[in-house]
Amino acid sequence: MNEFDIGPSTISRVEVDEEPPGSFSQSHAYRGRLRVQQCLWPLTLPELPRREISTPAIVARPSRGSPRCRAFRKAFYRDVTDKQWNDWRWHARNRIRTREQLEKMLELSSEEREGLERAGEILPVATTPYYMSLISQNDPQQPLRRTIIPTASEFMQARGESADPLGEDHDSATPGMVHRYPDRVLLLALDSCSSYCRYCTRSRVVGQGDIVPNEARLKQAFEYLRNHKEVRDVLVSGGDPLLMGDDKLDWILTNLRSIPHLEFIRIGTKMPAVLPQRITRELCRMLRKHHPLWMSLHFAHPDECTQESYQACERLADAGIPLGSQTVLLRGINDTLPTMKSLMHHMLKMRVRPYYLYQCDPITGSAHFRTPVSKGLEIIEGLRGHTTGYAVPTFVIDAPGGGGKIPLLPNYVVGRDGEDLLLRNFEGNTYRYSDPEGV
Ligand code: SF4
Repeated sequence: MNEFDIGPSTISRVEVDEEPPGSFSQSHAYRGRLRVQQCLWPLTLPELPRREISTPAIVARPSRGSPRCRAFRKAFYRDVTDKQWNDWRWHARNRIRTREQLEKMLELSSEEREGLERAGEILPVATTPYYMSLISQNDPQQPLRRTIIPTASEFMQARGESADPLGEDHDSATPGMVHRYPDRVLLLALDSCSSYCRYCTRSRVVGQGDIVPNEARLKQAFEYLRNHKEVRDVLVSGGDPLLMGDDKLDWILTNLRSIPHLEFIRIGTKMPAVLPQRITRELCRMLRKHHPLWMSLHFAHPDECTQESYQACERLADAGIPLGSQTVLLRGINDTLPTMKSLMHHMLKMRVRPYYLYQCDPITGSAHFRTPVSKGLEIIEGLRGHTTGYAVPTFVIDAPGGGGKIPLLPNYVVGRDGEDLLLRNFEGNTYRYSDPEGV
């Protein structure tokens, strides 16, 4: 490994943050706005029914962690100190990656056992101890559990599925950089994540170790960008860029910022959901040097919106970083209106603007995650007009073959009557809009 490879030695160079998310002492956003997270962990507390929540109740902030997290730590990490638990590097080093580890923590179903037998053929298995504390021990259908534990269904190929449905490999400009649209590029900083989502669009590359943040590859990307003055926007993604240490990320952002025609940098990450301890004050101090910097945060379900996640988003927002959410519509995970509405309400309270709701891409082995497109439209129709407009994301299909994002809306235009356009509102009532020039 060189100095730009991700690994324990790199992770350990980052200073411990004095008050990481999860120390439970500073979260103003969480205070008084979120109910205590239900504890699904059954070792010392009873298993609660799966949630179908429309709006979270308001209770006082707990003083130190949720009962669920405390029960989990007591069961499996009894000797781990608060300082270690609140240190993102400790979580990164101690990711849960093997069937043997999972067997100690979960009652695995036969479907999951089979999936774990073959895990790694497509996408590795890994998650952080923190995220594992949110997973039900004995319910294989729990939404968060389904997002990280592979099942046999992952190895069945359905019609229309492929390893690279978006045709990203075809648009590769330099190793790990996709240049599809004239004015913006996608820079894959690395291919590792702290936690691997079973529905990942980039499962063909993620976790394979082929894309590492080494200096030579990234300098090639910077050189390409310097020579392409039409590019004004760079999305730094992966993998998860925040799995890199602060120094490395700072180096990448500094290099990008040195290119005069780059106006806008975005970072895509799932860290606030799977490892919120990563959002340290040090990180935020570094990021704010590189404005205008925006972030797209990947959230899948309201159960990810813990007090730690609230605090992480609060820190990013306080650093002046506009935050948008990206959510993949997933069968049996977030494909009901109450669940999606609850998630979007959490986003607003976390100061994250709901941005995209994606129809699940047809990657190989994704049929068990994909819903009919009509389900997404039904959810958007249930949100628009029925809750705050800011809580309504744009529902899109990323067109297979590289056609880009195509927005989908329920049909609110009923027809025409002469010079009048006939429109349907959110309650199903029809209204006329005089539109003589549209005839
Ligand atoms: S965090 Fe993103 S890149 Fe990583 S596995 Fe999940 S969806 Fe894929």
